[in-house]
Amino acid sequence: MPHSTPIPHSYDAGWPRARAGATLTIDLDAIRANYRAVRARAAGAECAAVVKADAYGLGAARVAPMLEQAGARTFFVAHVDEGIALRPHIAPTSRVFVLHGPLTGAEADCVHHDLIPVLNSVEQIGAWRALAHRLGRPLPAAVQLDTGMSRFGLSEEDLDRIDADPDDWRGIGHCLVMSHLACADDPSDPASAHQRDRLLAMRARLPAAPLSLSASSGIFLGPDFHFDLVRPGAALYGVAPNGTAPNPMRPVVRLQARILQTRTVGPRDGVGYGLTYRPTSRRRIATIAAGYADGFMRHAAREGRAWLGTQPLPIVGRISMDSMAVDITDAPDSLTPPGAMLDLLGPQHGVDEVARGAGTIGYEILTSLGHRYHRAYVADGAASSLS
Ligand SMILES: *Cc1c(COP(=O)(O)O)cnc(C)c1O
Repeated sequence: MPHSTPIPHSYDAGWPRARAGATLTIDLDAIRANYRAVRARAAGAECAAVVKADAYGLGAARVAPMLEQAGARTFFVAHVDEGIALRPHIAPTSRVFVLHGPLTGAEADCVHHDLIPVLNSVEQIGAWRALAHRLGRPLPAAVQLDTGMSRFGLSEEDLDRIDADPDDWRGIGHCLVMSHLACADDPSDPASAHQRDRLLAMRARLPAAPLSLSASSGIFLGPDFHFDLVRPGAALYGVAPNGTAPNPMRPVVRLQARILQTRTVGPRDGVGYGLTYRPTSRRRIATIAAGYADGFMRHAAREGRAWLGTQPLPIVGRISMDSMAVDITDAPDSLTPPGAMLDLLGPQHGVDEVARGAGTIGYEILTSLGHRYHRAYVADGAASSLS
């Protein structure tokens, strides 16, 4: 049914934010400051930036150019397609490594999109060598060694197989040898030093190339773990690199959800699915516009809080798909009308605290944040919106 009269609509740039049930604010200045702080920790090593999983859910298209401005020249993603999506947003001279390497058949896509695979198996090395042979030139690659985590990379036995055929490295342009630490978030765990020793022993069996071992947590283990290149991800996005020490990183995300409705409940009432919350006295309850479809997991309700400024307000009952209930009895009515915003992640309550309450880690909180929020990016102290 064609209609000639346009539906009235506000074109005010501030409107999407005003209309949105919840707003996720991503502080690109904080990401840049975190990059510089991590790079200073690992002075002497190249500081790459890990932007897999859409920069841990924060938007690689916005985050990667900011990291590049801060000095990053090497990026890591997990999948070939993440690399293809990233390429147009960064300089042609910046390097993109693909942690999983190519699945069989995707080698030519890596070359076409100027992505450097991390070769994790003898089979991947063989396929990369075959393509180099076909193209008649060496192709750059990183080689990953399994130094103890049993996740990715070549084992000692794989290196024996390769030693048996000296042609095996032909055509591989070694630009990085890397491994990954399993227990770096606990500085007292001896596994990190074992992995380091193993990396040094194993790399001696490969053609010379720069070495890389540490992600965010490993960088904070000290210079013995820095080698030639470090690969921080989470720390750039404000997650604590170490489970016990105070978090040195600047917070990056703030999540604010609007109060949609308020009501008073009493001892005869129940709240939410299953009526699992039954107040024992008169309480004021607000229904706010974020739920598990927005990445706010149902476990988060256990010890979860929303915040009005510095005042914590308990999440009560089960979290629904699109909403949750907050007990606002202790907050002034004048500050909690429908339309007011409560913080779910913010200055009082960062990703690590929310993760602890939900029995998970800050990484999972970040990468679970949904795509339904109004997103606002702060750069150079000013906010810009992306609805
Ligand atoms: C994800 C990942 C990183 C980044 O880890 P963070 O702990 O987020 O800093 C670095 N290296 C590899 C191999 C990874 O998989």
